[in-house]
Amino acid sequence: MGLRTVEEYRAGLRDGRRVFVEGRRVEDVTADPMLAITVGHSAEVFALAARPELRDLFVFHDPDLGEPASAYFRIPRTAAELRARGDLIEENTRQQRSTFNITKAVGTDALLALLVVAAEVDRELGPRYLDRVRRYRDACTRRDVTMALAQTDVKGDRGLRPSQQVDPDLYVRVVRRTADGIVVRGAKAHTTAGPVVDELIVIPTRALGEEDREYAVAFATPLNAPGLTMICRPIVTEAASTFDHPVSRRNIEIESLTVFEDVFVPWERVFLCGEWQFAGRLATTFATFHRYTAVSYKPPLGELFCGAAALAAEYHGLERAGTIRGKIARLAMYPALIRAARLTAASECRFAEGIAVPNGVYSNAGKFYFASQFHDAVALLQDVAGGLVITGPTEADLRHPEAGPLLEKYLAGAKGVSGRQRLALMHLIRDLTASDFGGYNLVVTLHGEGSMDAQLLGAYREADLEGHKALVRRAIEP
Ligand SMILES: Cc1cc2nc3c(=O)[nH]c(=O)nc-3n(C[C@H](O)[C@H](O)[C@H](O)COP(=O)(O)OP(=O)(O)OC[C@H]3O[C@@H](n4cnc5c(N)ncnc54)[C@H](O)[C@@H]3O)c2cc1C
Repeated sequence: MGLRTVEEYRAGLRDGRRVFVEGRRVEDVTADPMLAITVGHSAEVFALAARPELRDLFVFHDPDLGEPASAYFRIPRTAAELRARGDLIEENTRQQRSTFNITKAVGTDALLALLVVAAEVDRELGPRYLDRVRRYRDACTRRDVTMALAQTDVKGDRGLRPSQQVDPDLYVRVVRRTADGIVVRGAKAHTTAGPVVDELIVIPTRALGEEDREYAVAFATPLNAPGLTMICRPIVTEAASTFDHPVSRRNIEIESLTVFEDVFVPWERVFLCGEWQFAGRLATTFATFHRYTAVSYKPPLGELFCGAAALAAEYHGLERAGTIRGKIARLAMYPALIRAARLTAASECRFAEGIAVPNGVYSNAGKFYFASQFHDAVALLQDVAGGLVITGPTEADLRHPEAGPLLEKYLAGAKGVSGRQRLALMHLIRDLTASDFGGYNLVVTLHGEGSMDAQLLGAYREADLEGHKALVRRAIEP
């Protein structure tokens, strides 16, 4: 099939999927006033791949298929190819007003993890999954699909294991096996982009014991499978002004609670079913790839913050003030250190099943750093920008024949900066840091790709503690 167009992608979403938002059933996600915005955001990945100057980054010749394909599907075999994957994610984000477009990144993170872990399962337990995963990956590449990934179970009592919960459906599980496939029940939380993609990959959220074997399940499903329901969070509507909401009105993801009420999955789409010993390995291998994706998509937002602070300083006539320069310098360090973690995670990768796997310490450290420092970065930007970030009137006021000239005159900045220019910048900063979307950014930075505790566990697991302890032993030798 080859590379798809924006229109082909949009047409594929009109498939009768069951989606709810703000209490209404959405018949066509491409026509809904809220969901259409996130469809437009997701569609950009196809538009960007069609731009000649971006083609080398977004498109590659797939040797397995013998045809051009989205570079997201490239299996990184070397550190350089892993780095190129990070470059792709970073540039895609930069092109979309520094907002991550998850629709090809997260699914391919999952495919890479499945390729690694399916090979391990097959080697240890006999052939069962690797061929299926390869065939599924090739089909996704050929169809040029978009994908979401559902890992986070709703989890009920976090202190109990899946099989100990009062309701056995609080983690997704297999309820029936048939000659043709399996039937799954349960719900996954916070599925980004589920309502606007072609395929959903589901994997376990944690390590499991033998008593939890029915929860050790990984599979892929189309979003219109009978029994699958997505209930979304709300976002801005198409009626919102792009002046007042410059980013979130055009570039925004959507999340859903994704419910599986006895969804049938044919065997060729089942990638783990009962092999509880591998649930944790799949969960953490995916997390490593996905945190590498995280440290790839975050720098452009840091750059936007830094640029907005530098421009605000100019508009205020304060670009020479030492105090302001110090804050801008700290904002410049934020994306630089995240990118440093990303580049090192690629150059210090390990190889599993011939696939370059990002270094676990650097990808966890980078994600932990950007999550733990993000609120400080927001504070620095808001500090430099001033109170107009939250007190600025709207585009409608600017357009009003009486109010508009007053805003132009009294909100003017240094060196001829107009009231409109200054307001536009303040609305950008509000949108990113002090609006509904700004609040979303605060929370997604903490919890997206796993909570900070998950990164600490990952870094602990991957760190060379024995090597470090040996260093101490040598240091204290008499
Ligand atoms: C905007 C957004 C988008 C997301 N997109 C996706 C997605 O596309 N797909 C997907 O699968 N997930 C997605 N996530 C989920 C994300 O990975 C989780 O939010 C994260 O793992 C935390 O899980 P939780 O939200 O259930 O919080 P909780 O599990 O309720 O965690 C709350 C706190 O409790 C701690 N905690 C939890 N359990 C324990 C325990 N047993 N012992 C000690 N401490 C514990 C956590 O570390 C955290 O500090 C997304 C999240 C957000 C916010």
